[in-house]
Amino acid sequence: MDLDFDRKHIWHPYSSLIDPPPVYPVARAEGVRLYLEDGRGLIDGMSSWWSALHGYNVPELNQAMREQMDKMSHVMFGGLTHEPAIELCKKLVEITPPGLNRVFLADSGSVSVEVAIKMAIQYWHSQGKPQKSKLLALRNGYHGDTFGAMATCDPITGMHHLFTGQLSQHLFAPAPQVPFGSTCSDRDIAELRQQVEENRDQLAAIILEPIVQGAGGMRFYSADYLRRVRELCDEHDLLLIADEIATGFGRSGKLFACEHADITPDILTLGKALTGGTMTLAATLCTDKVAEGICQGEAGVFMHGPTFMGNPLACAVADASIQLLLSGPWQERVTAIEQQMTEQLAPLKSAQNVADVRTLGAIGVVEMREPVKMAKLQEALIERGVWLRPFGKLVYAMPPYVISKEDLSQLTSAMVEVLGELS
Ligand SMILES: *Cc1c(COP(=O)(O)O)cnc(C)c1O
Repeated sequence: MDLDFDRKHIWHPYSSLIDPPPVYPVARAEGVRLYLEDGRGLIDGMSSWWSALHGYNVPELNQAMREQMDKMSHVMFGGLTHEPAIELCKKLVEITPPGLNRVFLADSGSVSVEVAIKMAIQYWHSQGKPQKSKLLALRNGYHGDTFGAMATCDPITGMHHLFTGQLSQHLFAPAPQVPFGSTCSDRDIAELRQQVEENRDQLAAIILEPIVQGAGGMRFYSADYLRRVRELCDEHDLLLIADEIATGFGRSGKLFACEHADITPDILTLGKALTGGTMTLAATLCTDKVAEGICQGEAGVFMHGPTFMGNPLACAVADASIQLLLSGPWQERVTAIEQQMTEQLAPLKSAQNVADVRTLGAIGVVEMREPVKMAKLQEALIERGVWLRPFGKLVYAMPPYVISKEDLSQLTSAMVEVLGELS
C-alpha cells in the first residue's frame, strides 16, 4: 500500500496533515480480527467504533448485501420505496421502546442528530411556540461532528470557542454524577431542574446519551437519573432526544439503553451498529405526537431528505444484522463479556497511574490519571496482538459480542500489561 501517499494526501479522523499520526494498513478482517498487510492479526477491541457487533466477514451479512446488490444497490427515496427499507423500519418500530412509531432513515450518526434537532424545532414551531428552539445538553456529551450536532457536544472537548459565531448557542447542564445502579436524589438533579425551570420557554428539548456517555468521557450513569429527566421533560413541556448511536443494539446490556430506565424518548437516534459495521446508515425515530405535530405545521412536511436516504444495500444489511443479533444469545454474551472484563481488568484498580476502572455491558474502561501517549500505547498493544484506540486519559474496549473467552483474555491481559507498565 502507498502509505506515503496516505500520509501526504488523506485526512484520517481528527488528524494532522503536517504531523500525521501512524496509520496501520489493514488488508482484510475476519471474525474478531483485523489482518494487517504484513499478515499480523489483531483482536479488534473497538468493534470499529461500536459498530461491528458480529465481527467481520460475516456470511449472513455478506449474503444480504450480495442478494440486494443483484436487485439494486440504490434508488432515490423521493417518491419511491422498497422492501429493504420497509422491512428494516418494521423491525426498528418493533424493537425500540414503545411509542417510537415513525422512522427517518439518515446517512450517518451526525446526520441523524441533525434530523432529531430539526424535528424538535419544527415540532414546537408548529405548536405556535417558535421561541422554543434551544436545546439543553449535558457536559461530557458527544453527539457528532456536523454543526448542529457539534453545538450540543461538550463545549470544551468540542472546541466551541473555535467556532464561535457559527455554532448555535445551547444550554449545558453538569454531567450526571450518580453512578449506574444508584438512586438519584433531588440534589443530584437540582441544577438540571433549575435550568429547565428557568429556560423552559426557549427550550425545545433535552438531548442526551442515555446511561453511557461515549466519546465525551466514557461515563456510565444512573437509570434513575434518566427516569427523572424524562419526568422533568413531561412536567415542563420539553421533548427528550435520546442519542443511542453508540449504545443501541445491546452494548449496554439492554437492547437499548433507555430500557434500563424503562422510558420512551420522544426522539431516538440510532447509527453505528445499525448495519453490523458494514455500511453507513442511521435512523431517527419519533413518536406519533412529534410526527403529527411537525406535519400539522406551517411547512406541512418534515424538511429533510438526503440523496442517499434509505439506501437499499444498507437497509438490507441492517435488517440482516438485527435478525442475526436477535436470533442469537446476544444478552448472555454481553453479560459474559461484562463479567470477564470486570474480573480481568480489576488488577488495574490498584495501579498507580489508574484513576478508575469501570465496566458496563460489553464496555470496559480504564481511566488513567494522565493523558496517554496514543501512538506508543498503540504500538505496545499491537505487539500483543490487540487493536485499541485510546483517547486522552481513556483506554477502553468494546469488542464484538462474538469474541471468545480466550480472545477476550488476550485483550484484557494486553491492557493490564501495557497500562500496568505505565504505572
Ligand atoms: C458516533 C456518535 C455520533 C456520530 O455518529 P457518526 O456516524 O460518527 O456521524 C453521535 N452520537 C453518538 C452518541 C455517537 O457515539
